[in-house]
Amino acid sequence: MKLHEYQSKQIFARYGIPIPKGKVAATASEARVIADELGSRVVIKSQVLVGGRGKAGGIRLAKNSSEAEDLAAQILTMEIKGLPVRKVLVDEAANIEHEIYFGITNDRAARKPVMMASAAGGVEIEEVARLTPEKIFRVHIDPLLGLRDYQTRDIAAGIDLPREHWKTFGTIVRGLWQAYVDCDATLAEINPLVITADNRLLAVDGKMLLDDNALFLHPDLSEMRDLDVEADSEIEARKYGLSFIKLDGNIGCMVNGAGLAMTTMDIIKLFGGEPANFLDIGGGASSDKVAAALRIILADPNVKAILLNVFGGITRCDEVARGILDALSEIKTKVPIVVRLVGTNADEGREILANANMITAVTLVDAAKKAVAVANGELVQ
Ligand code: GDP
Ligand code: MN
Repeated sequence: MKLHEYQSKQIFARYGIPIPKGKVAATASEARVIADELGSRVVIKSQVLVGGRGKAGGIRLAKNSSEAEDLAAQILTMEIKGLPVRKVLVDEAANIEHEIYFGITNDRAARKPVMMASAAGGVEIEEVARLTPEKIFRVHIDPLLGLRDYQTRDIAAGIDLPREHWKTFGTIVRGLWQAYVDCDATLAEINPLVITADNRLLAVDGKMLLDDNALFLHPDLSEMRDLDVEADSEIEARKYGLSFIKLDGNIGCMVNGAGLAMTTMDIIKLFGGEPANFLDIGGGASSDKVAAALRIILADPNVKAILLNVFGGITRCDEVARGILDALSEIKTKVPIVVRLVGTNADEGREILANANMITAVTLVDAAKKAVAVANGELVQ
């Protein structure tokens, strides 16, 4: 889950990281009031969950509160990379002398978190990594030992940070690390961390990604989720506790178990098809969950066939079959459904579906071939 800049910076502030004074506004007049309160030049920043807002015109400097109101009005009508701007952050403008990059993420290959810093901040770090990788300084953190003070100094030295800033930089590095750990983040990034004309360090931009699988530990953070960035189907799926990811193909997949779901998608592709989604209905799925899953799949107009692949272990095949019938009595569809049921109560399941006009398959290969064929408009029995 991605956090907005203003949300990330609020978290940063709790960990002692210096951020500019500012507040979020949902209307231009609110932006004016905030700018008046700040009583200085301000920067109006669109709060959308995409990068490169600056280039897209979503970040503008205003000299006074009436200019702030005008610019906020403009920005609040914008769409940036397909996302509507619903809020702007009105921050006291910084007088920037120098832009630094500082971020923490997981290095999967090293199996450790890694801190990255660069004196070439402000621009996208991926660009720096591609064009001038030597300008990025990296330090791995041992998850058991945690961050050591010498590592903080190594980073400061590694980016040639002037000595006078080392103390504050230490606070920022330790603060970001603690925020990263406490929030179960997968990324915490300050880009740019600026040195101002009056020689202060300031986190001007902030970005955090949180581990979805740890969100249940953080109800306060879960509440920050912005539903704009997610497909409606994914929101609906979460409500029913289904793991669902929308994809671009035309074969809807309903599978129990993440591994089997991945396998099913692979085999569909092996036979020349494209899955329309990843969907794990989970172990022991009840019939109403199955019905919800079928509704979600059928809501996608690209879906030309559905492949139902259930291995009944804890999940009972007859429950799944009943769920499908429930859903089909509610939504009339012409989309052909290929069913492969194996395991617990498979016979009962097949019996329940016997009169439902579905294409049955015994093996997964058979099921995938049939699904690809019907998705292509071929007749199959
Ligand atoms: P991003 O484009 O989405 O990464 O948004 P940022 O918050 O990083 O802003 C992009 C760029 O705008 C920064 O790298 C700065 O160069 C500039 N910028 C942002 N805030 C200020 C500010 O308060 N004052 C000045 N002068 N420039 C700013
Ligand atoms: Mn930035």
